[in-house]
Parts: sequence; C-alpha cells; structure tokens
Amino acid sequence: MARPRFNCDCCGFCCRSIGGIQQLVQYDRGDGVCCHLTDANLCDIYESRPEVCNVERMYPKVSAEMSREEYYTLMEESCKLLKDRFRNRLDAAKDREDMLRLLRHVPPKAAIMLMSENAPSPSRLFNT
Ligand code: SF4
Ligand code: SF4
Repeated sequence: MARPRFNCDCCGFCCRSIGGIQQLVQYDRGDGVCCHLTDANLCDIYESRPEVCNVERMYPKVSAEMSREEYYTLMEESCKLLKDRFRNRLDAAKDREDMLRLLRHVPPKAAIMLMSENAPSPSRLFNT
C-alpha cells in the first residue's frame, strides 16, 4: 500500500497566520504574516525552515497517538478551516470551536500548518 502523503496546494494561508505562534515570533512582520513568505507565496528559507513549519518533522511528536494517515487528515482539516477563514466563509464561533478541537490533538503550528515536505508547486489560490 502506498504511503499516505499530505496534500499541500501552497495556498500560503498558514504562513499568513503565524501570529501568536511562539516558535515563529521572530518571523512575524507584525501583522501575522511571516517575513519569509515571498510574493510568489513560497518560503524563502524552505530547506532550513523551522521544525514547526515542517509537517514531516512534526509527526514524530504525535506518532504515539495517531497514525500518519490520521495526522495528515487532521492537518488537511486544519488547512480547510484556515482557507475558509481567509475567505470569510466560516462562522467565527464555529471557527474557534473547530480550531480548538484540532489544537487539542496536534502541535500548534501543525494545526495551522505549513508546506508539506513534498509541496508540489508554486501557489495558486491566494486570490481565489
Ligand atoms: S514555511 Fe515557516 S518560515 Fe517559511 S514562510 Fe511559512 S511560516 Fe515562514
Ligand atoms: S499547509 Fe495548508 S494552509 Fe499551508 S500552504 Fe499548504 S494547503 Fe495552504
């Protein structure tokens, strides 16, 4: 059976949501957007990005609690919530409730996570 993989479409929303994330305080431009996010919606320190930005490196922290497939599913759920929030399609109260539920299960940054180890292509969704 093929190993599950996390599907990141490089929307960049997670890199625009780093406010309050302790491990990324030094990267916050002051508006919650990471100073390393390029105009092309890519990370300019991708190969050396912080651990919390790396889905694969974060998995061992929760591997005793869930399978890799379950972890990816939670991550993808987080991405969907984040995208809905950016597109103003989510009720604020439900958004908070859902995010808190996810945050109970996964490391903070991973819940509003970043580029997959296998992120395939440049961004395409930010203005959609
Ligand atoms: S992957 Fe991390 S370091 Fe890179 S742009 Fe996104 S938040 Fe910043
Ligand atoms: S990890 Fe999720 S929110 Fe971040 S760029 Fe990829 S798909 Fe978008």
